[in-house]
Amino acid sequence: MGKKNAPRTNGMPRGLALLHDPLLNKGQAFTERERDALGIRGLLPPHVLSQDEQAERTVKHIRQQPSDLEKYIELNALHDRNEQLFFRVLVDHIDEMQPLIYTPTVGLACQRYGHIFQRPRGLFIGANDQGRIEQVLRNWPYPAAIIVVTDGERILGLGDLGANGMGIPVGKLSLYTACAGIHPRLCLPVMLDVGTNNGELLADPYYIGLRQRRLHGAAYDELVDEFVAAAHRVFPGVLIQFEDFANHNAFRLLQKYRDSICTFNDDIQGTAAVALAGIFSALRVTGAKLTEQNILFLGAGEAATGIADLVVAAMLAQGLPEDAARRRCWLVDSRGLVVKGRTELAAHKLAYAHEHAPLPDFLSAVKALKPSAIIGVAAVGGTFTREVLEEMARINRQPIVFALSNPTSKAECTAEEGYRHSGGRALFACGSPFDPVTLEGKTYVPRQGNNSYVFPGIGLGAIVSRARHVTDEMFLAAAHALAEQVSESDLAQGSLYPALPRIREVSARIATAVAEAAYRAGLAGSARPADLEAHMRSKMFDPHYESYI
Ligand code: NAD
Repeated sequence: MGKKNAPRTNGMPRGLALLHDPLLNKGQAFTERERDALGIRGLLPPHVLSQDEQAERTVKHIRQQPSDLEKYIELNALHDRNEQLFFRVLVDHIDEMQPLIYTPTVGLACQRYGHIFQRPRGLFIGANDQGRIEQVLRNWPYPAAIIVVTDGERILGLGDLGANGMGIPVGKLSLYTACAGIHPRLCLPVMLDVGTNNGELLADPYYIGLRQRRLHGAAYDELVDEFVAAAHRVFPGVLIQFEDFANHNAFRLLQKYRDSICTFNDDIQGTAAVALAGIFSALRVTGAKLTEQNILFLGAGEAATGIADLVVAAMLAQGLPEDAARRRCWLVDSRGLVVKGRTELAAHKLAYAHEHAPLPDFLSAVKALKPSAIIGVAAVGGTFTREVLEEMARINRQPIVFALSNPTSKAECTAEEGYRHSGGRALFACGSPFDPVTLEGKTYVPRQGNNSYVFPGIGLGAIVSRARHVTDEMFLAAAHALAEQVSESDLAQGSLYPALPRIREVSARIATAVAEAAYRAGLAGSARPADLEAHMRSKMFDPHYESYI
């Protein structure tokens, strides 16, 4: 947020307290004058090191670590010590650092959270805090504008990790700051510790959460209700992003709160925007229309139905009737093709349960339905088999193949497999990062179809416009804004998304589009500035140090 938000020295902590404040600490970069004025002379080694030099040293140190988990631990420690330097390193090396602080490494970090735990970050609100959640929230010393909350029941594709899931809101909010410049002071990670049904964790002496099985039913709902109401009393207008809830709660909670508060579920809605943007890019290559696509999903959960709903909204916007649009999206779950005749289908699948004979598995569904696109979001690794990919390449000149499950171990196929088994013709995107692939002299650069391309910009747009709700129109606007950032040269090398180092530019555009949608719908709580995009950029936190005196 630039100079205008520079802290004033009056009221600023001095001495050791300043060095121990991660939001203000600059470590060895404090100048001679600052050292005198702020009472820290002698508390630091005498040699002054610029932020550039500190960043260079940090990156070298990170690269020397023996494993990604060690790198995660080092980066986390830096986050706890010196936030500006942490974000500077992230922003300048986002390609290298994002996979360390977010998927895939954060998955491993969450599995080991209690064992690698050093300092707490964010707020832990437990089942035993019922009746005093507002009090707990008031212990947070900063004015939160955005909360990312999880109950840890479906962490990435890794299942119930209980309170260990805290790594996800922490990592995600780091990306809100690094990628869209939401000030770290405004970001609050929350773990709703309702217990865990993960027996291994309950037996682990270092598990950080409550030793109890998950709350469910009315007790669970009351806790979430109390949290949402208290969060709004303590931080009026706060954006609450629900994250990695199991789908039996995720859909319900989204329906319950979406029209009353400013909220969204990134697994459902953010994923949808990023996938739709990838489809828009792929269609620029094939020249086909969205309304002509037949999309087959492997998986029928939050991501699959979220994407399908937004695809339908986009098809409606292009003139296709709703019924016809829905028939262009098909789901395969663990019991085969989702069809009308199946009994006991969960409510979120019903809109995509079409008339069709039952089919037992994904390959038979590909053969029968001849999709133009397959989207993997079932968290079952290796399910886009050679046969599936070859069949897609037989049916389509350029098949759209999105292997979106995370972390890498759950990916439906690797980038190499995607390109190789389609004869290099797949328009491919992946949830976790894969290196470029060279086949017969041509190099393909797969980019991540990961919601991290959109949620930071959506968050910034919602906060700056003070949106009362986050609507489908905003996600559609985000998908278009993201797709518009993909260049012809990106497409020529097989990339359906812009290069990650452009993410702050991309986020500024997405945020502008989202805020514009809020103003258009009369949902904004702030007056529209004349130059919305310039205003958006002016609100972005800049991690470069500034002088305190
Ligand atoms: P979810 O639990 O809501 O849905 C999983 C679905 O997969 C369920 O419908 C389940 O029935 C189905 N399934 C399970 N086993 C199957 C099998 N063998 N064959 C077919 N279907 C099967 O989870 P979700 O939120 O939809 O997430 C699913 C995956 O997508 C996770 O790996 C998650 O990390 C990933 N994801 C990626 C992104 C991204 O940005 N790339 C975003 C969200 C989710």
